[in-house]
Amino acid sequence: MNLKSKLKTKWFWSVLLVASCISGLTIAVSYLSLFQLLEWLTYDSWFRLRPLETKETRIVVVTISESDINELGQWPMSDRTLSQLITKINQQQPRAIGLDIYRDLPVKPGTAELESVLRSTPNLIGVEKVVGKGVKPSPILKQQDQLALADFVRDADGKIRRGLLAIELDNGQVQFGLATKVALMYLAAEGIEPKSVGNTGKISLGKAELLPFTTNDGGYIRADNGGFQILMNYRGTETSFPQISIVDVLNGQIPKDLMNNRIVLIGSIAPSLNDFFATPYSSSPENQFQDLPGVFIHANLASQILSGALDGRSSIQTVSEPWEWIWIFVWTFGISISNLVLLDRQLHSRSALFIIFISTLFFIIVPGLALIGFGYLLFLGGFWLPVISPLFSLTLSAITISWYYNQTQEQLALIDSLTQIPNRRCFDEFLDKQWKQNNIKRQSLSIILCDVDFFKQYNDTYGHQAGDLCLQKVAQTLTQSIRNSDLTARYGGEEFVIVLPNTPSDAALNTAQRLCDRIKSLQIPHCKSQASEYVTISCGVASANFNLVKTPEELVANADKALYKAKEQGRDRAVFWNEDNKVNNFNNETE
Ligand code: GH3
Ligand code: MG
Ligand code: MG
Repeated sequence: MNLKSKLKTKWFWSVLLVASCISGLTIAVSYLSLFQLLEWLTYDSWFRLRPLETKETRIVVVTISESDINELGQWPMSDRTLSQLITKINQQQPRAIGLDIYRDLPVKPGTAELESVLRSTPNLIGVEKVVGKGVKPSPILKQQDQLALADFVRDADGKIRRGLLAIELDNGQVQFGLATKVALMYLAAEGIEPKSVGNTGKISLGKAELLPFTTNDGGYIRADNGGFQILMNYRGTETSFPQISIVDVLNGQIPKDLMNNRIVLIGSIAPSLNDFFATPYSSSPENQFQDLPGVFIHANLASQILSGALDGRSSIQTVSEPWEWIWIFVWTFGISISNLVLLDRQLHSRSALFIIFISTLFFIIVPGLALIGFGYLLFLGGFWLPVISPLFSLTLSAITISWYYNQTQEQLALIDSLTQIPNRRCFDEFLDKQWKQNNIKRQSLSIILCDVDFFKQYNDTYGHQAGDLCLQKVAQTLTQSIRNSDLTARYGGEEFVIVLPNTPSDAALNTAQRLCDRIKSLQIPHCKSQASEYVTISCGVASANFNLVKTPEELVANADKALYKAKEQGRDRAVFWNEDNKVNNFNNETE
């Protein structure tokens, strides 16, 4: 195999190796949570980009705004006001009422009235907070087992992307979240009950199958997956739910049948009560810095459970970790292989700048956009796959492969295409480097200039193709006859040059003679040669020591003069050029 195809094979395997290593590296890096925030932000933007769904008419939110509090004249509202509120709502016969207000202490007047209302309203669910600094529940509701959790699960960036359906309390009892509890009450009226699916951990509920969130789902890394959580598939913000103000309810101004057979959630939207949370919608331009009142997060989660169970609306699914790794591998390999094909077939011999431009465009920008677009389409279909980690992986491999391609091209640019040995450019660079090193180390540097004898006649006799073959053989033999630290290059036409670092003149002359012998011993017939019956070479040797030779060009010129002398003296010999301008012959045994 010649050097060029060796390099090409090396390049092919290197690309595959680069793609594998970078994919592996990306997966490792992703476990350091380096991509998590960007994955979240991309995921959030998909929520905001997604077309709005229709309003959730099965849920009504009774809001308590700042002006409502002013009108009520006191906060917390008195037990009497609360009992009136519940009575008014219940007159419309909702299936469930969720009271998203902590009510652990009595607020006079009307405490006895409220107690009797609470005792006679089995479809009312109150809240407690159990995670972190807890808030105690209403003792009566607790007694009647009409309690749910108001807790939310916040991500590290403060946003709520997961819903807490239930947790197991210290006493082993399962406590539902507010949304779960009211949704289950709603569904129970339709005859839908939750059932666990074998040992899978899944819960089937009507048309829905609820899968508990696991710690590395989607863009998450080592998230707390305590309790039974699911990824929130938000329907929208406040505008996605019918609302009515607490004052309107208390004044009896409720549209007919607004709450009938529905879920009613009561909660604050007043800034002074500070029940606001960041969600994926929080950073949208039209909703900037506007977090969602907690009651609407409960409403979203309840709506997600209802629409899953009743309409088969998909929740957000993720794929298992090995599939995420495959997803990263596929993007990286796809890009690397197209990179390989395009660079190799279409772009070779183009400038480095052009290659960088094309690579950036076709291997980073276009696939990057395709990846994010594809991720968004999957999201619309209910799947969340990471996009930042494959984007990182494919960008890094595109950069590495383009860089490596340029390196390979540079290597190829130093190889002579006919003989597959280093070319004149490579020789110039090598000699320059050696010259500098020699000046530092004060060693002697020698070069040998070789020229095939009567080569014009060889071509004329045996044809140009045979001439080429002969040059290849000569090049190969010269390369094989020197030390690894030496360099043989094609100087041009049928001339070769050998650089011998750290070699004094006598050793160089010896080497040159050995080269002459080796070439002759190849016994390539040359019937028109006047020097031998076989192909021979003549060598001119020159050394640079004791600072008598000032430049590398002078060294080459000396070798050339010696070569001229060798030709003059009858060819098939090595001649040394010494500093006194006298040439020394090697004692040629063949003469
Ligand atoms: P001398 O012994 O004085 O060196 O005689 P020569 O015929 O070798 O020298 P000359 O410079 O007259 O001719 C060199 C020939 O080498 C001429 C050219 O056609 C041939 N040559 C140069 N490069 C190539 C090549 O790549 N392939 C082939 N086949 N021939 C080449
Ligand atoms: Mg010549
Ligand atoms: Mg010649």
